[in-house]
Amino acid sequence: MINHWINGQEYVSTSGKTLPVYDPALGIETNQVAIANRSEIDLAISAAKEAFPAWRDSSQAKKQNIMFAFRELLNNRKGELAEIITSEHGKVLSDALGEISRGQEVVEFATGMPHLLKGFYTENASTGVDVYSTRQPLGVVGIISPFNFPAMVPMWFYPIAIAAGNTVVLKPSEKDPSASLWIAKLFKEAGLPDGVFNVLQGDKESVDGLIESPDVESISFVGSTPIAQYIYENCAKKGKRVQALGGAKNHMLVLPDADLDLVADSAINAGFGSAGERCMAISVVVAVEPVADQLIPKIIERMAKLRTGDGRRGCDMGPLVTKAHRDKVASYIEIAEEDGAKVLVDGRNPHVDGEPNGFWLGPTLIDHVPTTSKVYTEEIFGPVLSVVRVQSFDEGIALINSGAFGNGTAIFTNDGGAARKFQYEVQVGMVGINVPIPVPVAYYSFGGWKNSLFGDTKAHGVEGVHFFTRGKAITSRWLDPSHGGINLGFPQN
Ligand code: NAD
Repeated sequence: MINHWINGQEYVSTSGKTLPVYDPALGIETNQVAIANRSEIDLAISAAKEAFPAWRDSSQAKKQNIMFAFRELLNNRKGELAEIITSEHGKVLSDALGEISRGQEVVEFATGMPHLLKGFYTENASTGVDVYSTRQPLGVVGIISPFNFPAMVPMWFYPIAIAAGNTVVLKPSEKDPSASLWIAKLFKEAGLPDGVFNVLQGDKESVDGLIESPDVESISFVGSTPIAQYIYENCAKKGKRVQALGGAKNHMLVLPDADLDLVADSAINAGFGSAGERCMAISVVVAVEPVADQLIPKIIERMAKLRTGDGRRGCDMGPLVTKAHRDKVASYIEIAEEDGAKVLVDGRNPHVDGEPNGFWLGPTLIDHVPTTSKVYTEEIFGPVLSVVRVQSFDEGIALINSGAFGNGTAIFTNDGGAARKFQYEVQVGMVGINVPIPVPVAYYSFGGWKNSLFGDTKAHGVEGVHFFTRGKAITSRWLDPSHGGINLGFPQN
C-alpha cells in the first residue's frame, strides 16, 4: 500500500479506506493508495505545525544548504523518479524526465531564497527614524496537486514554501501518489528536519480538512476548474490565502505567413506530448485562411509517424491515465461526428506498442470543429487536436478572447507587428510567439487568466515567494541624547 509521510517517516494508514492505483500502459491495478481519515489529516497538520517554529528559526544558510543537497540528490537520481511517474501516470520516460527537470528549476530558484527575501531599508525616514521591510513565512501551507504532473506541479510550490521557512502538507493526486512519497524520502536524505514536509494521501475529505483547519495558513491548488473554484471560494470564506490554478483550452493561432513545417512540428509536440494531458497542451489550431489546407497534410504526415505505446519502450506517446478518462476523451470524437466536424485521423482503434489492456487512445485530428460544439468549448485533456478555420487575424484573436479559459496560447507568424498586437490584445496569461508551450522558466511565474486561475498570485518566481510570505514594515528609532520629547502629531521631518 502507498502510505502517508508524516513527521519524517512513512505512516501506515489505519483508515481502512484505499483506492486502486493502475499502471496505465498495462491496464492493471498495481497498488492501493491509503485514503486518510480525520485523525490522519489532523496528524499530518499537527506534525507540520510542530515543526514550524524551529524550521522558521533555522538560519538562511542551513535552509539553503538543505535545498542544495536536495537538488543534487534529485539531479543524480531523477531516473528513479521518472520510472515511478511512467508506471503510474503512463507518460513516456523522456517526458517524465522532462517534467522533473522543469520542477528542478524551481528548486534551483529556491536556493536563492536569502536574496529573494531581502527587504528594503530607509535610513532617516524621519529624523533618527529608520524604516525597513522584511518578508516572513506563513506557517503550515497546504498543497493539492493534480495527476498530470505528479513531480513538477508540487515542485512549483514546496521548494519555495520550504526555503522561505514554511512547513508543508502536500496532498498529491490519488491516481499517481508514489512520486511525492519518493520526494519525501529524498528530502529526509538531504537533511530536512522531520515534519517540515509531509505527504497526506487522500481524497476530498483531506482537501476539505486542509481548507477547514485553522492551523493551515494557505492553500495552493492545481487541478480542474470546478474544483479550483470550489477551493478558492471555500478558502476565501475562511479568509485563507489561496491560489487555485484550474483547467485550460489552449489555442494556437496560425497566420498564412508562418513557417508551416515549424507549425506542424509544434502542433504535434504541443497537441500530443504527454497524450494531451497537459494544462498547456494545444488543443485548438486556429488557422487563418487559406492556411488550413496547406497545414493539415503536414500535420497528418507527422501523426502517421508517431508511435503510441508503453512509455518504457521508447514510444512517442503513452496511454491515458485511467480507463474512465480514456473513454471520456474518446467520447468527444463521437460528439465531433454528431456535431458535423470532420474526423481526419481517428485514434479510437490505435496500433500500439504495448499491452492490449492499456488505456490507449491514438492521436486524433478533427477539422471544421464548430465553436458551439463541446469539442471546442470543453477541456478534453487528451490527444485530440481540433482545427478551427477563421477568415482573419482579428477574428482569430476575438475567438481566443471569447473563451472561458486563459491559460496558454501561441501565435505562429513571421510578422513582428502581428505578434506584438497578439501579445498585447490576447486575454491569456502565458503567450508564445512561435513557441507552442510557453511555460515560463522558474524565475518567472506560471499561471493563467479567467477560469484558469482563481486568486491573483501565480506559481513560482517572485509571485511564488510573495504567496508563501507575509510582508512586514518596521519603523524604528533608537534613542539618542537629542530625542525630541512628546509629539502628538505625525513625525514629518
Ligand atoms: P482534479 O481537479 O480532478 O484533481 C486535482 C486534485 O483535487 C487532486 O488532488 C484530487 O484528489 C482533488 N480533488 C478531486 N476531486 C475533489 C473534490 N471534489 N473536492 C476536493 N478535491 C478534489 O484534476 P486532475 O484530473 O487530477 O488534473 C487534471 C486537471 O488539472 C485538468 O483540468 C488540467 O487542466 C488541470 N491542470 C491545471 C494546471 C494549471 O497550471 N492551470 C496544471 C496542471 C493541471
